[in-house]
Amino acid sequence: MKKVVKFGGSSLATAAQFEKAGEIIRADKDRVYVVPSAPGKRFDGDKKVTDMLYFCYALAEEGKDFTKELKEIKGRYDEIIKGLRLDLSLDEEFRVIEENFRKGAGANYAASRGEYLNGIVMAKYLGYEMIDAAEVILFYDDGEFDPEHTNRRLSKRLKDVPKAVIPGFYGAYADGKVKTFSRGGSDITGSIVARACKADVYENWTDVSGFLIADPHIIDDPEGIDTITYRELRELSYMGAAVLHEDSIFPVQREGIPINIRNTNDPEAPGTWIVESTCQKSRFTITGIAGKKGFCSINIEKAKMNSEIGFGRKVLQAFEEYGISFEHVPSGIDTFTVFVHQDEFIDKEQKVVSAIHRLASPDSIEIEADLALIAVVGRGMKSQRGTAGRIFSALAHADVNVKMIDQGSSELNIIIGVENADFETAIKAIYDIFVTANL
Ligand code: ASP
Repeated sequence: MKKVVKFGGSSLATAAQFEKAGEIIRADKDRVYVVPSAPGKRFDGDKKVTDMLYFCYALAEEGKDFTKELKEIKGRYDEIIKGLRLDLSLDEEFRVIEENFRKGAGANYAASRGEYLNGIVMAKYLGYEMIDAAEVILFYDDGEFDPEHTNRRLSKRLKDVPKAVIPGFYGAYADGKVKTFSRGGSDITGSIVARACKADVYENWTDVSGFLIADPHIIDDPEGIDTITYRELRELSYMGAAVLHEDSIFPVQREGIPINIRNTNDPEAPGTWIVESTCQKSRFTITGIAGKKGFCSINIEKAKMNSEIGFGRKVLQAFEEYGISFEHVPSGIDTFTVFVHQDEFIDKEQKVVSAIHRLASPDSIEIEADLALIAVVGRGMKSQRGTAGRIFSALAHADVNVKMIDQGSSELNIIIGVENADFETAIKAIYDIFVTANL
């Protein structure tokens, strides 16, 4: 058995948290490859080292003095090193970092140092080899991650290294220049390492005991999710369920490696299993609910548009011309609606409207703002009749006006559009009918 273990920032924010991670790793000899994040918040209101690094580099870029800020970052690591009683000094590393900041090494390089340095500390603490992610995680020149080249390079590198620490969040271009993933990207690194070594499990250790059916800020003490499929998770994380980076599913999905989300502060809890497919039924008809506010809809009307070949393409071309991606396109006989992110659209709205007129000659266009989309996701919905009916009667009882309905062809999810103001009420109503009442 081989396990890849990734620890999030809050699991490595202090020496005491490091010790918990160390105990977890040592408790199972299969936990051979470790992917650390940068130190996160130690308490509410604290700063993440990654944010401190971005800030510090911004000062450097403006030509301002950043020595105090860099010292504060070094203090975070020194506190951990001291607490773990390690014979390790990062003086030389920080000298190089300071020099590179002055030379304009870039914000990606700056942010990546959080994981890089934590990797050095973790490797020393465990007695594992440290593999710099810049050598093994590769990006194309356009900034996209290069999965195949990375997989070959990393598998080869890991072959003769039985135990290693590979820092999360970054890699490099072919010329060695450091490039990071988007925020929270250490989750992706863990998945890449799991794929490269063909791990049996990818354990992702964080500060919650897995996924919850709904956002705890909206639902009081929601139920947890025991098992979820990659596809269900993809739907939920795209809609804002934020435990795992949404791109971290792809590398392990290719090899069918399960992900187990675990809690560093409650290591006995089984957490959530994310799998390719399962015959385990979820406890409720739905697996989860997630949603996002801040959408707007562009409603386009044209008599007999249903018989006009190419109408949809012309409308979508207007969005493409202005670099706006669309979320959903529900359509009727004479209507065609495009849902987009309001903040991406707002500055370009009049340009897009005139482009639609130019390209598709509609009768009228109406924009509606401040909408929310809610995804109700569950593999159990496929075999159940009446799921949609129950959702809509629950929403009607809660006095929520449904603006849009879109059921994916997989029958895995139903997307509902409501006004931003109805968002929380709608989620509560759906949770209550399926989970509290377990209908
Ligand atoms: N440290 C990075 C961040 O704060 C990446 C990560 O933790 O996954 O986003």
